[in-house]
Amino acid sequence: MTRPVYVHDLTALAAHAAAIRAALPPRVELLYATKANPDPGMLRTLAPVVDGFEAASGGELRHLGTVLPDRPPAALAGPGKTDRDLAAALAARVRRIHVESPAELHRLARLARAAGTPADVLLRVNLPVTVAGAALVMGGAPSPFGMSPAEALRCLRRPPDGVRVRGVHAHLASGLDPDTAATVAGAVVDWAVSQAGVTEVNVGGGMAVDYADPGARFDWPRYGQRLASLLDPYPELLLRIEPGRSVTAYCAAYLTEVVDVKRSFGDWFVVVAGGTHHLRTPAAKGHAQPFTVHARAGAAGPRTDGGPVTIVGQLCTPKDVLSRTADAGPIGVGDVLVFGMAGAYAWNISHHDFLMHEQPEFRVGDPVRVAGQWAAQRGC
Ligand SMILES: *Cc1c(COP(=O)(O)O)cnc(C)c1O
Repeated sequence: MTRPVYVHDLTALAAHAAAIRAALPPRVELLYATKANPDPGMLRTLAPVVDGFEAASGGELRHLGTVLPDRPPAALAGPGKTDRDLAAALAARVRRIHVESPAELHRLARLARAAGTPADVLLRVNLPVTVAGAALVMGGAPSPFGMSPAEALRCLRRPPDGVRVRGVHAHLASGLDPDTAATVAGAVVDWAVSQAGVTEVNVGGGMAVDYADPGARFDWPRYGQRLASLLDPYPELLLRIEPGRSVTAYCAAYLTEVVDVKRSFGDWFVVVAGGTHHLRTPAAKGHAQPFTVHARAGAAGPRTDGGPVTIVGQLCTPKDVLSRTADAGPIGVGDVLVFGMAGAYAWNISHHDFLMHEQPEFRVGDPVRVAGQWAAQRGC
């Protein structure tokens, strides 16, 4: 067997999502950003735990309607929503439409009047936020996302007929640690309440995932405590978050088999079946994807010397690098490599058709067990 396989650990996902929910104050709504991984099994696993799903396109809206027909999506977001997308959101009774520009707001209002269905919207605001201590400035720079605070205030003061502006939405950065994420949330809430006069606020996703440290997790209890104290002075406030990566990243792995091992001008290369056209995450983020090695039973082929290796796939481009590492130990032909943290922005962002290789298989289970069974098959 050389066909790579994605293994989705839905048991781990259910437990992880429940722990996130339990760490948040009851008044904080937890949405899942579908674009991180729209796999139907994952969506169905998350459905009983999260308060809803955020669709970032008309396509995701249709997908959610098929996978979870009894559950109108909580939000439609994303740049460049067409009239068709907006009309579909109104027809599907999506709870909130996140509006990206004044022009989009007016287009939506016209469609809502025509449909006789008022649209409940959040205005996406590109708000400048300074995080003291971290010397960090977010938002407030030219961006295709959201509208300026001044534009948002104009839309709030004179909303067109057909829309009800319920509040604001801000997704300003990703890779945030709990304290920074809570500080940003606080700044958005302060602006929403004091300047915009609204009490419904979605502060987006972007909670950090550290690919260099697969055992580390975003500290949800700490973030939850910070949000609880943020909510304290505002009894009316409805706060919502919409993480993606930090929910599903840990709950899938990409398993593949070593096809060739070679030395090139002193450096070891390990060539696996598949590659970044199946798992684009390391190429997209510029990191080494973490992996473990399951030695093939009875393998007699060549092995690396245990020193630094570059793990590459089957694409005819030097960019097809899954990982580089100094300390993987010896790797031989037939060994099974388990690339962890492949549950978010992985298969669904990959360029599947490049070079027309076979697509991976998809299974539900424990990746390490599947790898053990695979490697135990005598081969080579
Ligand atoms: C992508 C996105 C998210 C999810 O971000 P993660 O980094 O995956 O948590 C949330 N909100 C918006 C508006 C997004 O575009």
